Amino acid sequence: MVERVSVIGLGAMGAPMAARLAGAGLSVRGFDRDAAKREACPWAVERFAEALDADALILSLPNSAVVEAVTAEALATARPGLLIVDTSTADPASTRRLQAQAAAQGVGFVDAPVSGGAKGAAEGRLLVMLGGAPDDRERARAVLAPLARAVLDCGGPGAGNVVKLINNLLCSAHLLLAGEALRMGEAAGLDAETLAAALAAGSGRSGAIEANLPAWVLNGAYDSGFTLGLMGKDVGLAAALDGLGPLAGATLAQVAAARARFADGEDFNRLVDAAWRDA
Ligand code: NAD
Repeated sequence: MVERVSVIGLGAMGAPMAARLAGAGLSVRGFDRDAAKREACPWAVERFAEALDADALILSLPNSAVVEAVTAEALATARPGLLIVDTSTADPASTRRLQAQAAAQGVGFVDAPVSGGAKGAAEGRLLVMLGGAPDDRERARAVLAPLARAVLDCGGPGAGNVVKLINNLLCSAHLLLAGEALRMGEAAGLDAETLAAALAAGSGRSGAIEANLPAWVLNGAYDSGFTLGLMGKDVGLAAALDGLGPLAGATLAQVAAARARFADGEDFNRLVDAAWRDA
């Protein structure tokens, strides 16, 4: 049974996840290599080794290289029965290798990438795309329940990350297309807000038009908590999946162009601007 949970990576997603888990009555610890993140989190411990004394580790880390390094450190001292729940968006091939290494030591490892952003994490309304061995997926559900509005069983190890990467490729394509739509509308003399409101009610609507434009773009906020750099990582990983089509290839090129124009630390909704307004 999972009672003691440690969250590794206390960034935009990990910090609110730790708060949710503590609010659900679990015994929570957290660790981040950044001292400022540890100071800001009431559940943080000073040393990674202290965080390893847990029934489950929730990883919320930037990329597969970091997930691999942290998992190797955890497996060096892990007891059989530990469960590692990786909520980072990561390379499915790396996930499959880590799952096999962990299983050889009697440690469970699931990929559980999430959608819903920092707000979804704080409100326990994330969508979790779960991959892993069936027993591990079942055990992970209990620890994911306080974080999620839905936990989708995607299949074996890496399947959660495949779904998440395709989702973020689509999200990027929709944001770029929303920017092109605004550019075309303005070229015809239309007001962006009027056009966006009309498109949100039409059959060409998308999550980007319905949710992102009003929440983060048209009001100039650009404060979703998800960076362009992390989205660029996800689109690059998606492009490495088999079956890439021409629209996905064009999306990859346009995301690269946007990253040449905007810093990686900027909000990912800058993808709309990249297609909408000239530099
Ligand atoms: P973030 O950069 O805010 O947080 C990552 C944290 O990991 C940082 O605080 C960093 O200091 C810490 N870290 C890095 N290396 C470490 C190590 N070796 N040991 C311990 N801590 C370490 O990133 P984020 O936005 O919270 O995203 C985390 C993951 O979730 C990413 O894989 C991202 O793609 C994914 N994700 C983010 C969002 C979002 O809206 N922000 C949404 C869905 C998925």
